[in-house]
Amino acid sequence: MAAIDRTKGFLDEAMETMDPDQHREYLDRELQKIVAHAYAGAPAVKDKLDRAGVAPGDLRRVEDLQKLPVTEKAELVELQRRDPPFGGLVAAPLEQLRRIFVSPGPIYEPGDQSYLDNRWAQAFVAAGFRAGDLGLVTFNFNMVPFANMLDDSLNMIGAKTIPMGVGNRDIQVQTMKDLGVSAYLGTPSFLAALGDKAEAMGLDLEKDIKLEVGFVAAEMLPESFRAELEARFGMIIRQSYGTADAGCLSFECYQKGGMHVPYNCIVEIVDPDTGRQVEPGQPGEVVCTVFDRTYPLIRFGSGDLSALDYGECPCGRTAPKLTRIMGRVDQVTKVKGMFIHPGQARAVVGRFESIKCFQVVVTRDRHKDVMTFHCELEPGTNMAELEPALKAAIQDVLRVRGEVEFVAPGTVPSGAKVIDDRRVWD
Ligand SMILES: [Zn+2]
Repeated sequence: MAAIDRTKGFLDEAMETMDPDQHREYLDRELQKIVAHAYAGAPAVKDKLDRAGVAPGDLRRVEDLQKLPVTEKAELVELQRRDPPFGGLVAAPLEQLRRIFVSPGPIYEPGDQSYLDNRWAQAFVAAGFRAGDLGLVTFNFNMVPFANMLDDSLNMIGAKTIPMGVGNRDIQVQTMKDLGVSAYLGTPSFLAALGDKAEAMGLDLEKDIKLEVGFVAAEMLPESFRAELEARFGMIIRQSYGTADAGCLSFECYQKGGMHVPYNCIVEIVDPDTGRQVEPGQPGEVVCTVFDRTYPLIRFGSGDLSALDYGECPCGRTAPKLTRIMGRVDQVTKVKGMFIHPGQARAVVGRFESIKCFQVVVTRDRHKDVMTFHCELEPGTNMAELEPALKAAIQDVLRVRGEVEFVAPGTVPSGAKVIDDRRVWD
């Protein structure tokens, strides 16, 4: 393909760059519409509101969603068992559905045409995909929705697809070479594996493989790994985040630095204990409300932990960004009112090469939480220097004061939990 500018562009510029106040009003209006629709058509949504003593008219603004409990994924399985096949969550007649997906659980999910709004398409354009791209879709097409959602959404922007699925690496490589595939969709690790395969087949990744842009998901993407893949293939790689049920919930633009929420869905970050929205920038559970008229999920919990960043982005999109996904909510520990996740603790310790291994121990002292980093050190480490630096890093990353204890080698049990919560509650 001729050189294309993949570094900027929008699917719908007016909507994606809307003034933040107008955007809030837009979300409030869409919320009112979808709640009225879901209450009338989806018995489980009606039940959720009725049990909370909330009328559809009480949910006028995004803040009002806090009047409702969060529906966790595990509850879907139970809802569907009681009221098969969709647990009363689908607001369209079953004969209108185009596809039905089977996700682990099992959870049955409607794959109706209207299930496909343009959120993945926004993500593709932001990632640098353009009309005319030929995309190799290497996610699994069987049973689960993700690959099919992407395939349909690529069509929406005028790109063509090769629905490959997983496996068959030699055929995938041959196809990329023969057809001049310009775009990759899959996990970062599978892209690396295809690169290895191509090289084993005697191909040159820059000359024989014409990949220009990649869309990755479903795996962590360390920056070092991204940089390695981008350099190896000479391509742009951007990532996205969503769930099988709710679809796309955020995506990177060319500028990176977090993942924009699509303009047309609501993402809240909530305290997993109380369901209350946290302050901007604070971590909590990603909870979404999507405006899909077939499958209108209202306050649906992802179980994933992240935070929202409302800073301006040079790309021009005004929607906030999710910072990276920090882990699962069921792994967090609350210390002095703040959520501490193993991934954050690792990020603290990762700044210091002299720490060989560590464990965070949480205890109570006179009704106050105490968080202590037990660290084993490399021989010869200057402890007097390390201690204040480590304490500063704990404060910086976790926003909570932490104690530091240097322990003898072998003290931290191998395979131990990163956070050992020893508090006893009576
Ligand atoms: Zn941006």
